[in-house]
Amino acid sequence: MNIAVVHQERAITQMPVIAHPDHEVVIIGAGISGLGTAIQLKSEGINDFILLERASEVGGTWRDNRYPGIAVDITSFTYSYSFEQNPNWSRVFAPGSELHHYTEKVAAKYGIYPHIRFGVRVGRAEFDESSHCWRIFTDGGKIVTARHLVSATGGLISPKMPDIKGIKDFRGETIHTGYWRDDIGLEGKRVAVIGTGATAVQLLPAIAPQVAHLDVFQRTPIWLLKKPDRVLPAWLRSAFRLAPTAQRLVRAGTDIVSESLMVISAVYYRQFPWLVRHCEAAGICNMHEQLPGRPDLWEKLTPKYGFGCKRPSFSNDYFKVFARDNARLVTTPIERITENGVLTKDGEEHPVDVLIMATGYRVFEKGNLPSYEVVGSNGVELGSFWEENRYQAYEGMTVPGYPNFYVMLGPYALIGTSYFKMVEGNSIHAVRCINEARRRKATRVEIRQEVHDRYFADIQDRQKNTVFLNHNCAMSNSYYFDRHGDAPMLRPSTSFEMLWRAKHLPIDNYVFS
Ligand SMILES: Cc1cc2nc3c(=O)[nH]c(=O)nc-3n(C[C@H](O)[C@H](O)[C@H](O)COP(=O)(O)OP(=O)(O)OC[C@H]3O[C@@H](n4cnc5c(N)ncnc54)[C@H](O)[C@@H]3O)c2cc1C
Repeated sequence: MNIAVVHQERAITQMPVIAHPDHEVVIIGAGISGLGTAIQLKSEGINDFILLERASEVGGTWRDNRYPGIAVDITSFTYSYSFEQNPNWSRVFAPGSELHHYTEKVAAKYGIYPHIRFGVRVGRAEFDESSHCWRIFTDGGKIVTARHLVSATGGLISPKMPDIKGIKDFRGETIHTGYWRDDIGLEGKRVAVIGTGATAVQLLPAIAPQVAHLDVFQRTPIWLLKKPDRVLPAWLRSAFRLAPTAQRLVRAGTDIVSESLMVISAVYYRQFPWLVRHCEAAGICNMHEQLPGRPDLWEKLTPKYGFGCKRPSFSNDYFKVFARDNARLVTTPIERITENGVLTKDGEEHPVDVLIMATGYRVFEKGNLPSYEVVGSNGVELGSFWEENRYQAYEGMTVPGYPNFYVMLGPYALIGTSYFKMVEGNSIHAVRCINEARRRKATRVEIRQEVHDRYFADIQDRQKNTVFLNHNCAMSNSYYFDRHGDAPMLRPSTSFEMLWRAKHLPIDNYVFS
């Protein structure tokens, strides 16, 4: 898709020419992506960089999400940097707070803290064609200039409130899981949870024993597999410390399982439809085991869409919640929120003291990805371009018209095996471009239009194999899909291919000038 076809106002701010940029590289965001890129830059001897982070700590998702029960849903052996294995995880699926500490330890160990400017929110970035630099406008009114800009602002950072009438009328407490409030105790209260996605799967078993009554409002059920979770005993953690190779071997095993369940099943559905059928059977079996003799609940909790259309999850105790005396699964659609609770379309009012929104995040939407305006050499704002012309980026990272710009979570970038794999692949790719620019003494790096277009055509072709276009996804209400009906969340390739391409793609796919 040629950017020239977009009819958009030219919106570049008139500014004096930049003689020397403040930094060679600016990274926006200090979560897993930002830290991973910073470490890659340092490992290649590039030290003139800063990270701009709007919060006051590193960790992104794992700093912000503090709801009860939060944990990773990919094993911690796989959900971590390959170069920084952590022998101290307390469980196979570590709780969220351990991930937050992990990011802090990594930032300290690799000397990233001196590069971070906390409390700086970026509102806009513009490419200056006369100097081949980015001007980055912060909310505090400062302008920072950089030769290269890396966008590491993540995807799941804007909690989404459901579009239900009357939310403002509710007189009790309302919480979104992305902004958890410890000051609101749930003990002995009547609690309603709206949403039954991956967050609710973790939240409900943690809060159900405390509350007086729990109403769970479900629109779309989730596919859930058994979670092979357990405490990692002290002797095993000591063994991992003494023999890191043993932990790497375990990681290799969990990588393969994760790649099969989260990638191969969804991305190569046409080649391996039996894998999806096997996962669906395992999901049903998990539900039956947790809720023996409850066909009334089985019917309501069985997804009407295929496994993989929406992010599946893992749990050994989520379904059990609905067998509790103090919990109820409500599948009648919500009419509105009232002053006192939730009114369903059948006319029943469910009285509530605390209303919890487990309704996820905005994802591929303008204003979220990226979380600030990005104006390229053509004067076109990237979010508007994507919104109008479909989400697209070479290798999920670079876009013609946006020189010296690398987005870590771009369209079709995420490898379902683990977010860390994508971060490692993309940071290698970005730093290769930056290094090559240094070597050629070039100040401008841009992906060739024809290479990008060929890549996007290939992505669309590969999409034809995915579960998204072949299985029954219509009823999934999945955040994998955008408003165009595309599914730009997942990269249609294996993680091995992604890493190989990051390391070996022909660097002349880019124009260096
Ligand atoms: C609850 C939850 C659980 C998850 N569990 C898993 C899992 O088990 N497995 C998996 O593979 N993935 C998981 N993910 C997805 C993904 O792995 C995480 O979201 C991951 O932490 C993303 O890392 P990131 O650095 O790209 O983004 P983030 O962690 O979102 O960090 C982005 C950073 O950028 C900052 N920022 C954003 N905008 C601006 C701006 N304009 N100016 C300055 N700073 C800005 C933010 O403050 C934040 O610190 C999960 C996501 C969530 C929300």
